[in-house]
Amino acid sequence: MKKRNSQDAKAKAKKKKSYGAKRAKFCKFCVERLNTIDYKDVKTLSSFTPERGKVMPRRTSGVCARHQRTLVVAIKRARNIALLPFTTD
Ligand SMILES: [Zn+2]
Repeated sequence: MKKRNSQDAKAKAKKKKSYGAKRAKFCKFCVERLNTIDYKDVKTLSSFTPERGKVMPRRTSGVCARHQRTLVVAIKRARNIALLPFTTD
């Protein structure tokens, strides 16, 4: 009985919901040792904005807190000068 319980717990732990494709989680900007994120760099920014045009959450992209903050500012700037869309429909 005791054994079965532990097995059930293990099975439950394994059944984690996966959101989207599995990818290695690391902060891209930390790896490149960037302190600022260029708002004109559409290629980089658009990789953090899924189809809807929203900003990808940290839990998905793996970006660290510090860089997520600078990334959001950069994306907002890029939107304001029409490099990125606010929404797509
Ligand atoms: Zn970082």
